[in-house]
Amino acid sequence: MNFLCVSMSLYITSLNSGSNGNCYYVGNDEEAVLVDVGISCREVEIRLKQLGLSITKVKAIFISHEHSDHVRGIPVLAAKYSLPVYVTTSTLRNCRFRLEKRLIHNFQSNLPVSIGGLSITPFPKLHDAIDPYSFIIAYGHLRVGVFTDIGAPCENLKHYFQLCHAAFLESNYDEEMLEKGKYPYYLKNRIKSGHGHLSNNQALAFFKMYRPSYMTHLILSHLSNENNCPKLVYNLFSEYANDTEIVVASRFEATSIYTITSSDSSVIPSTFSLPPEPPTLQMSLFE
Ligand SMILES: [Zn+2]
Ligand SMILES: [Zn+2]
Repeated sequence: MNFLCVSMSLYITSLNSGSNGNCYYVGNDEEAVLVDVGISCREVEIRLKQLGLSITKVKAIFISHEHSDHVRGIPVLAAKYSLPVYVTTSTLRNCRFRLEKRLIHNFQSNLPVSIGGLSITPFPKLHDAIDPYSFIIAYGHLRVGVFTDIGAPCENLKHYFQLCHAAFLESNYDEEMLEKGKYPYYLKNRIKSGHGHLSNNQALAFFKMYRPSYMTHLILSHLSNENNCPKLVYNLFSEYANDTEIVVASRFEATSIYTITSSDSSVIPSTFSLPPEPPTLQMSLFE
């Protein structure tokens, strides 16, 4: 069986997280990918610079789904830096922008895409978009997941979460705050429908059940401005964190850069088995 070197590192940060814009950076020493660019090209440049990260390391963008909080910065950023954009045909068709043909690359469910030393595996998720995906980014034996905009945890998510050394996991709303809040009835129902977003309690139950022993970082993401509170989320998860560092991603600024390394005990074969069944695709209704 082929085991890979254990002295590698991945560097991860959320450049912004929430319904006002999502952008997640995952890279090694040589190259990096962005999952979603829902903030402007200018903001991406500013925030990377503040963190001391070079945009020249970014080699590709992966699009999870067409909602504007995940794509609005893509056309300018991709064109300015000639970045390949990995997206499914139906998602691109539902984006309100055009990309130069040379920048468009398709991906397929559960088929890894290589970007330098990084391997990015897309898998379908439950969300009210036309063809929504989550991604797991591997570098050697290290694996980082980007799991936001999830209506409910599906078998795919359970499978891939259990392989992660670090994960961005949605913790969108506090159930009581949503219930008592000022959102209209239809929007409350959409959020908790099973095709909207994960609540704090759903995310916590999922983390408690499926966290692998070697997960070093959990970055709670896509928090609602109206129906959640970063401190509440931090306290909720910290109680059950054990050795996992809990971070709450901000809606207004980048997080620090977190370095993901691992011990020999977390090494599993660099090829891992496919999950059971993909969830059914959902129609696009909301952002
Ligand atoms: Zn979103
Ligand atoms: Zn969405």
